[in-house]
Amino acid sequence: MHVLSLFDGISCAQLALHRAGLPVSSYLASEVEPASIACTMHNFPRTVQIGDVTNVRTLAELGVFGQGKIDLLIGGSPCQGFSLAGEGLNFSDPRSRLFFEFVRIKNAIKPKRFLLENVRMRQDWSDLISAMVGVKPITIDSSDFSAQSRKRQYWTDITVKKYSPLSVSLSDILLPGWYSERQKSYCVDAGYFKGTNFRRYFFKGSRQIVFRKGFRVPPMTKENANFVQTLCLNDWRKLEVIECERLQTIPDRYTANIRPNDAYKAIGNGYTVDVIAHILRGLHV
Ligand code: SAH
Repeated sequence: MHVLSLFDGISCAQLALHRAGLPVSSYLASEVEPASIACTMHNFPRTVQIGDVTNVRTLAELGVFGQGKIDLLIGGSPCQGFSLAGEGLNFSDPRSRLFFEFVRIKNAIKPKRFLLENVRMRQDWSDLISAMVGVKPITIDSSDFSAQSRKRQYWTDITVKKYSPLSVSLSDILLPGWYSERQKSYCVDAGYFKGTNFRRYFFKGSRQIVFRKGFRVPPMTKENANFVQTLCLNDWRKLEVIECERLQTIPDRYTANIRPNDAYKAIGNGYTVDVIAHILRGLHV
């Protein structure tokens, strides 16, 4: 099949296509971040990088394919444009404009099937997206497929099959000698590379921390959390890149050719591969 992936990142979509056992004869990727592109090209040298999405005219114009020739259009535009703190969805915000690029390209190339991923957002914006792509989203929590909590919306015209949740826990995927008291990790976001701390973890419920086996977390208050954290310095840490890969069901060391901070960012931006693979298995029928 011929695939066009917008906002391709580190090509988690390509991993998912392979995992779902779908034959890929060509894979076009639109991405601008050099480190992510380097990771993709290292793992999938045959990827055709087509650059900035705003420069993508119709694929017919690119001379590659004509209308109706793309079997799958897949993408998840950057989510800042949908952030509740931001200006919201409109054509003038450059970040939300990227979403409209997906719609523009979808209308121009008329793919046989499409899949659009995004964070959960205000209902009226979600409804607007649904109206523009012609289907309602389904919400899947990655915790059904991995050791990470990550609720995302998926708009697709592929029939998504029922599944039974996988019971893998965070401690199951950690490097030896470490554990977590939580069943599932908090969502690994693109800011995780900046690090974490006890206050953030225990009192805000984000930015996962793991502990040395045998270590018991002492009682804590918001006020003494920083102090306790310093006392226990050798008994906790943030997740390693390889553990973040596992939380996204990306193969171990997939991102090893780029700098760790770039890897954290790209993984945090990425799809959970097994969720996408599950959806794409609907293409087999
Ligand atoms: N789904 C991808 C990641 C999506 S995150 C994965 O699984 O890895 C959104 C991506 O959009 C980021 O990688 C960002 O670099 C990219 N992006 C931002 N502006 C872009 C543009 N103008 N054209 C193409 N990609 C862009």
